[in-house]
Amino acid sequence: MNKTALITGSTSGIGLEIAKAFAKEGYGIMFHGLESNGFEIAKEVGDKYNVKVAFSNANLLNSEAIEQLISYTITTFKSLDILVNNAGIQYVSPIKDFPNEKYENIIAINMNAVFYASKAAWKQMEIQNFGRIINISSVHGIRASEYKSAYVAAKHGVIGMTKVLALEGANKNITCNAICPGYVKTPLVMNQIKNQAKAHSLTEDEVIKEVMLKKQPVKEFIPLATISDMALLLAKESSTTITGTSFTLDGGWSAQ
Ligand code: NAD
Repeated sequence: MNKTALITGSTSGIGLEIAKAFAKEGYGIMFHGLESNGFEIAKEVGDKYNVKVAFSNANLLNSEAIEQLISYTITTFKSLDILVNNAGIQYVSPIKDFPNEKYENIIAINMNAVFYASKAAWKQMEIQNFGRIINISSVHGIRASEYKSAYVAAKHGVIGMTKVLALEGANKNITCNAICPGYVKTPLVMNQIKNQAKAHSLTEDEVIKEVMLKKQPVKEFIPLATISDMALLLAKESSTTITGTSFTLDGGWSAQ
C-alpha cells in the first residue's frame, strides 16, 4: 500500500480512530488537528503500524492554511489519495442567544473547510485519476435538533456539497460520500454532556438517556470502529461507483 490519507482533526475522537484504521491497512497518514500532542500521536501511530506519518496543526478557520496543509501533504507523501474532512466543532444554544462568532466558526470549520480542502486536493486527485473524499457529516446533516442551528446548517451543507463533488468527480475516479453518525463518545460529545447537565440541572447519565439517546432507537453510542470501517470501505479502489451518497450510522435515528 503506498496510498496517502489526510484526515482533518485526526488527533482526537473519530478522526484519530479513522487514522489508526488506515495506518493499520498501510496507508501513509497526514495527521492534523489542534491538540498540542499531535506530533506525538502521529509518531506513535506511525511507529506502531510502520507507516509514514506527518502532522500539521493548520487552523481550518484560515483558507490559506488549508491550502498549505494540502500542499504540505502532497510534497511530503507525493500523493493525496484519501481526504477525510472530519474536523468539527459544536455549540448548543437557542438561536436568540447564539453568539454570532460561534455561528461563524461552526460554519467555517464544519462546512467551509470541506470546500477549501476538497478544492485544493482536487487537482492532485485528477492527476492521479484517483481520489476518495469522505466527509464526516452527521445525522444532523439530515435531521434537526433544537438549539443546534449552526451545526445542523453546516452538516446539511456538507451533504449538498458531497453530491456536487460526486457529480464533478464522476468518470475521473474521484468519489465523494458523507458519513452521518449518531452520537459517538468523543471529547466533542463529552463536553456537550457536561454542558447540558449543568444547563438543565441533570446528571450526566440523565443527559445521555433523556436528551442524547432519546431520538436513537438503539440506545448505544455509535462505536468508533463502525465509522472507520465505513471510511475504509469508501476508500477502496473497488468503490468507484459508490458516490454522492450519505451513509447514516445512527442506530436507526433517521429511520423514523
Ligand atoms: P473531537 O472534538 O474529538 O475532534 C475534533 C477535531 O477537530 C480535533 O482534532 C480538533 O483539534 C479539530 N479541530 C477543531 N477545530 C479546528 C480548527 N479550527 N482547525 C483545525 N482543527 C480543528 O470531535 P469528534 O466527535 O471526533 O468529531 C469529529 C467529526 O465528527 C466532527 O465533524 C463532528 O461534527 C462529527 N460528528 C461527531 C459526532 C459525535 O457524536 N461525536 C456525531 C456525528 C458527527
